[in-house]
Amino acid sequence: MTITDNSIYLPKDEMPRNWYNVLPQLPTPLGPYHTPDGQELPPEALAAIFPPGLIEQELSDRLWHPIPEPVLEALALWRPTPLVRAFGLEKALGVTSRIYYKNESISPSGSHKSNTAMAQAYYNKQAGLKRLATETGAGQWGTALSIAARHFGLDIRVYMVRVSLDQKPYRRVIMNLMGAEVLASPSQMTKAGRAALAADPDTPGSLGLAISEAVEEAAGRPDTNYSLGSVLNHVLLHQTVIGQEVIKQLALADEKPDYLIACHGGGSNFGGLATPFIPALLEGQKFKLLAAEPAACPTLTTGTFGYDYGDTARLTPLMPMYSLGPDFQPPAIHAGGLRYHGASPIVSNLLKSGLIGAETVDSAEAYKYARIMAQSEYIIPAPESSHALALTCRKALELEQQGQPGVLVFVLSGHGLLDLSAYEKAPD
Ligand SMILES: *Cc1c(COP(=O)(O)O)cnc(C)c1O
Repeated sequence: MTITDNSIYLPKDEMPRNWYNVLPQLPTPLGPYHTPDGQELPPEALAAIFPPGLIEQELSDRLWHPIPEPVLEALALWRPTPLVRAFGLEKALGVTSRIYYKNESISPSGSHKSNTAMAQAYYNKQAGLKRLATETGAGQWGTALSIAARHFGLDIRVYMVRVSLDQKPYRRVIMNLMGAEVLASPSQMTKAGRAALAADPDTPGSLGLAISEAVEEAAGRPDTNYSLGSVLNHVLLHQTVIGQEVIKQLALADEKPDYLIACHGGGSNFGGLATPFIPALLEGQKFKLLAAEPAACPTLTTGTFGYDYGDTARLTPLMPMYSLGPDFQPPAIHAGGLRYHGASPIVSNLLKSGLIGAETVDSAEAYKYARIMAQSEYIIPAPESSHALALTCRKALELEQQGQPGVLVFVLSGHGLLDLSAYEKAPD
């Protein structure tokens, strides 16, 4: 018998050697970051918390950034990731469209966050930093950065949103195993944390507040920098290995995509998939780039566009983005990685200029398709990724009804093997 391979693998030496920077190709330029009084933020201001290599990328007008050798070696531990034809899912849905998923769950942390974690740890080590401070919502970012800190020899403290720490205790175990210190946020360690606890000792915490704590610590210690797992330009830059590989893999499979879909929390896995496709879109190729966001935290679909803070305590610069406001307290949904009030300025810019679209998915729909995927592909998606999966299934079913099957690609941004308590409690 012949065995059909459902996966499109790229050989190791086809790994992207450069990151793709969409900034110089945006039809309308990205507005600069602002200080609270509305002035343009001087780049030096970022130097208190970020290393020079990342600041250069944050504000770069160069199209391609070579990936440093040590980062390439780190990424090669699991990259290139396969693009997998979801035969089982197609059959379970009863559709004739071809559905592919880009499997980012095979990284050491189990999510796409390792792509930027390795790069960020490298640039901080190179700049002589000894420690990193960061926040984590669902725990994936803290896990990814703890592994990267271990890989490049840095100490790390992680402020983990309290509600997520309660929901996902095993994430803390992994971070501790890597040598990281993990604190529940809000904590007594920072001014921002103490203020939040004084206002409400039982607060579940939020990503915005945990960011305040980590930024406050990094700004106050010369040996410590801050690391952010999403939103910022340099983070999206590092994630473009995803989209660049998908472009090559679709070409190998002789496929032209109709839909490219990723979930949206702060915008990094979506931006990493979408931005490398922007040149083709601008050249007139016909396909849709769609962000899937949770109905409980609908930043792109109902937020307002303007300058807003990235954190609750208003310590970050103001960024031009869609936002629900820094005080927005998202409900404690299980897709913790999607509970962020803001959005990446790059993704916001693309949405505003009509190059991409966004739709919401509620948690019942996300879990419905997560269950179908688990039972047909035997892969348990992260609750975040299930939003991309659900939107993909929705579009595949729409295409079927219109009698126009197509090609749909979504990013499986992570696996859900540490989210089983969420599956246990999810609606049937
Ligand atoms: C963090 C996370 C997300 C959301 O973050 P983005 O920056 O929007 O990509 C999505 N999926 C997984 C598995 C995550 O860990």
